[in-house]
Amino acid sequence: MELKSPYLIGIMQDLVQSVSYQKEFLQAVHEVLCSIEPVLEKHPEYEKSGLIERLVEPERTIMFRVPWVDDSGKMRVNRGYRVQYNSALGPYKGGLRFHPTVDLGVLKFLGFEQIFKNSLTGLPMGGAKGGSNFDPKGKSDNEIMHFCQAFMTELSRHIGADTDVPAGDIGVGAREIGYMFGQYKKLRNEFTGVLTGKGLTYGGSLVRTEATGYGLCYFANEMLTVKKNTNFEGKTVVISGSGNVAIYACEKAQALGAKVVAMSDSNGYIYDAEGIKLDTVKDIKEVKRGRIKEYAAVHPTAVYTEGCRNIWSVACDIALPCATQNELDEEGAKLLVKNGCIAVAEGANMPSTPEAIDYLMSNGVLFAPAKAANAGGVACSGLEMSQNSQRLSWSFEEVDERLKNIMHNIFMTIDQTAIEYGVENNFVMGANIAGFQKVATAMMAYGAI
Ligand code: NDP
Repeated sequence: MELKSPYLIGIMQDLVQSVSYQKEFLQAVHEVLCSIEPVLEKHPEYEKSGLIERLVEPERTIMFRVPWVDDSGKMRVNRGYRVQYNSALGPYKGGLRFHPTVDLGVLKFLGFEQIFKNSLTGLPMGGAKGGSNFDPKGKSDNEIMHFCQAFMTELSRHIGADTDVPAGDIGVGAREIGYMFGQYKKLRNEFTGVLTGKGLTYGGSLVRTEATGYGLCYFANEMLTVKKNTNFEGKTVVISGSGNVAIYACEKAQALGAKVVAMSDSNGYIYDAEGIKLDTVKDIKEVKRGRIKEYAAVHPTAVYTEGCRNIWSVACDIALPCATQNELDEEGAKLLVKNGCIAVAEGANMPSTPEAIDYLMSNGVLFAPAKAANAGGVACSGLEMSQNSQRLSWSFEEVDERLKNIMHNIFMTIDQTAIEYGVENNFVMGANIAGFQKVATAMMAYGAI
């Protein structure tokens, strides 16, 4: 896609000039700006009020030192961040990522995407993202605890149940949220819903652990039903990653009657022609915090291949990229098309490169963008916030039903929006436009702030 509007071209050029090194951020902004061009034609007042210049600039960016002591007694230092991007629709909301690749550009891309995703859920949440270049791999529980406490000691000054409510992301699961929530509670002497993804005994919501993966499958199933008169039943599925999103996408895909044949981690992928035994993956990844190649030792029918990018060479009907950004490139997209894939739904954030998306869509593959397809996680976080405010807990069935409804509504909204703008089945444009419209309306209502 290419920009045509001089106003948007100018904004993009300014960004490229000022933050040329923030590649993922520029990629995310470019996609959104291309999609919303037709909206700006209808609303010339947005240019006058500098709406897009304001939208691409985070409201607040916090960067801080995180000093912590490792098991040998040595002082270590990492860099912590929170990008509070946009609060037009509600308190800032978005996950924390702990991974050595984390830098400001990555968190700005994730925070920017989060604005529109949260808007699509229909719940009152602004967009944010945070994290650290800390690598949890190979660290003891004690080191993880010390790091999380040090991280929260600074972050606690900037967040709050009505201000900013972080959650998990890559490298931040129930264990890390527990340590951070405990530290926040101690420092502030208050028990509030300041983080989501909490344990069930201290304010967590049922279904939150499963929500992103389940929601992804609810969305993809609906898309297949409406657009191709089919569903997951009897389909072969490939899922990249083997973390939180991938595991629960696999669980729901199997429950819907599909056979998942491949999963991966950053080292390589396993292929099990008889279907992945998810209990083994959960044991390796959730209990032992091990590597996916250990699966092949337990199930000799499975084959392990070194190198995670080759996972797209495995033939499938449905592909669910659930690991990380830009993991599915044009070469991977070509392999998927060649092998007869009919749908790609993004569980990870921005896992497909722009070239891959173009190739898939121009070859008739249904493509569900992350903003819409993986919004189930943050939607369930929004439901956790509601339960915390009410001091109530809803049943698994109740939360799951709400999640299904939210995913259904997101699909209907982006499908209708794409039709309204004359780009039927272009869910990238549908999601970007629908997400943007609500935020833009709220920002215009607030005036120049
Ligand atoms: P986890 O940390 O639980 O799992 C991440 C998985 O992706 C692991 O299998 C990991 O392998 C793999 N991975 C991470 N980085 C890379 C890389 N650079 N190259 C290849 N593989 C990689 O994270 P989540 O499952 O929570 O998140 C996965 C994706 O989903 C992310 O894009 C995240 O932003 C997105 N997401 C998550 C939500 C949630 O609720 N958790 C909500 C919405 C989106 P390894 O173990 O080898 O590192």
